[in-house]
Amino acid sequence: MTQHNFILLGPPGAGKGTQAEALVEKFGIVHISTGDMLREAVAKGTELGRQAQQYMDAGKLVPDDLVIGIVRERVQEPDCKRGFLLDGFPRTLKQAEALSALVEELHLAKPCVINIIVDDEEIMRRLSGRRMCRQCNAIFHVASDNVDVGDKCPICGGEIYQRPDDRKEAIAERLRVYHEQTDPLIPYYADRGQLVSVPGEGSISEVRQRMLQGIKCSD
Ligand code: AMP
Repeated sequence: MTQHNFILLGPPGAGKGTQAEALVEKFGIVHISTGDMLREAVAKGTELGRQAQQYMDAGKLVPDDLVIGIVRERVQEPDCKRGFLLDGFPRTLKQAEALSALVEELHLAKPCVINIIVDDEEIMRRLSGRRMCRQCNAIFHVASDNVDVGDKCPICGGEIYQRPDDRKEAIAERLRVYHEQTDPLIPYYADRGQLVSVPGEGSISEVRQRMLQGIKCSD
């Protein structure tokens, strides 16, 4: 069976989660979001969640070893046989190197890395207006969806909330951390011939189209 593995790179709010769905559906692969996994651990109050929460609320990165550990386990689950899409991982050179070693060790298909490019000003606008459903994880924007904290989710009726790290100070910190820690992954993957860059402005379907063209598969 051919395995298709992808990594979505791009700053927080670039649309990785949204665009992930298109690839997951197209290739029948598993969406692995380290942010979602960590938030779930925090919500459930597990040991992992307890260790991760303080970093997350401040917009800082959770220590590499913790995140590498959860990804290492997750990609070996049986549902990842056809492939996986990593969203929000790797975020540091150490994580990228650990992933390359894991791909080799487990004889996995080399991931295609899609870098979604969006400038900082646009990220601030997108994230400060972002609201989410606590139940189904659907994403909304106060400007376009008429949904705000205290409302019920229009999809499942769950509670709408604002992620603590979508407050302006935390967004600024996440962008700073992104440029410092994650920017170096772009030359890392470009040098290995794994990188496809896609401008992230425009509608969801425009970005999706560019992404699918970039990885040379038709819609
Ligand atoms: P995200 O939903 O991808 O924006 O992730 C939310 C938060 O989870 C980040 O700000 C980090 O605190 C933590 N996190 C998620 N993925 C990683 C990762 N690969 N490395 C370190 N921390 C992470």
